[in-house]
Amino acid sequence: MQLGNYFGALRNWVIGQHECDGFYGIADLHALTVTDTPNVVGQATLELAAMFFAVGLDPDVATAFVQSHVPEHTQLSWVMACNVSFGELTRMTQFKDKTAKREGEFTSGALFTYPTLMAADILLYDAEEVPVGDDQRQHLEITRDIAIRFNSRFGETFVIPRAITPKAGARVMDLQDPTSKMSKSAASDAGLVNMLDDPAVILKKFKRAVTDSESDVRFDRETKPGISNLLEIHAAATGRTPDEIAKGYTQYGPLKADTGDAVVELLRPIQARYAELMDDRGELVALLRKGSAKARSVASATLARVYEHIGLVPR
Ligand code: AMP
Repeated sequence: MQLGNYFGALRNWVIGQHECDGFYGIADLHALTVTDTPNVVGQATLELAAMFFAVGLDPDVATAFVQSHVPEHTQLSWVMACNVSFGELTRMTQFKDKTAKREGEFTSGALFTYPTLMAADILLYDAEEVPVGDDQRQHLEITRDIAIRFNSRFGETFVIPRAITPKAGARVMDLQDPTSKMSKSAASDAGLVNMLDDPAVILKKFKRAVTDSESDVRFDRETKPGISNLLEIHAAATGRTPDEIAKGYTQYGPLKADTGDAVVELLRPIQARYAELMDDRGELVALLRKGSAKARSVASATLARVYEHIGLVPR
């Protein structure tokens, strides 16, 4: 996770948990489509979970859980597979893109059936709204198609979900290339602020941030992308506006230093909580189990309804 993920997504989830009945699943089973090494997915799951709780997802409010802890996901995914056509799955552009990228490598069958598990992820929770980026819109469409088809075959069972555009958080640009979004896949680490970077590293990255040859401090993304990015990050970290912050500076140096400080202060408690949870695996797993139990109580009722509507013999 990097600073862009936090301002663009995580922070909105933390706010959103009080506005709706949110389910935040860590899709470890989906990760298996491209995994061939033991323990990698489990470790990544724990790290992501620790970050969820460290940024403020509250286990008493939100339902944060691990997909593999809720067996109904794989159970419903089979039913989904039985209600989607081969042709529909073949049309998924993500599948075409991913297999093209993996040419010559092992391509799992699960990469092809992936949308059936994703449909289960969504429909199990009677989700009304699913915040998705553009790359996942087609998978949400196929989920709707499967749900509509199932309802017409077996009677009203699923809530038909709607894609919503996630609330726009601040857009964080690369500190070395402020016309590109900050991203894990950036060419160099110098423009990327990781959530777990040391304070000294963060300060150094801000100190070296690319600016421009003028010297005035104002918020203007078009002509001053570097300075505007610093102002936007500073604003997001302190709850003020970029224009307001710009008024306090006449030079780039102090703006860079103060923005670095603001980010360090913002991340300090998050990093501390993260370290605490990673040091206390028992506590972390207990929090996840609590979320998984809540998720399961909803998921198992949905699966029971599905089996009943299909008319399977009760256990
Ligand atoms: P990714 O890890 O790129 O799949 O991004 C996960 C989420 O983080 C997406 O929903 C984006 O909205 C958000 N995100 C990632 N990078 C940035 C960024 N540089 N600025 C704002 N939001 C971002």
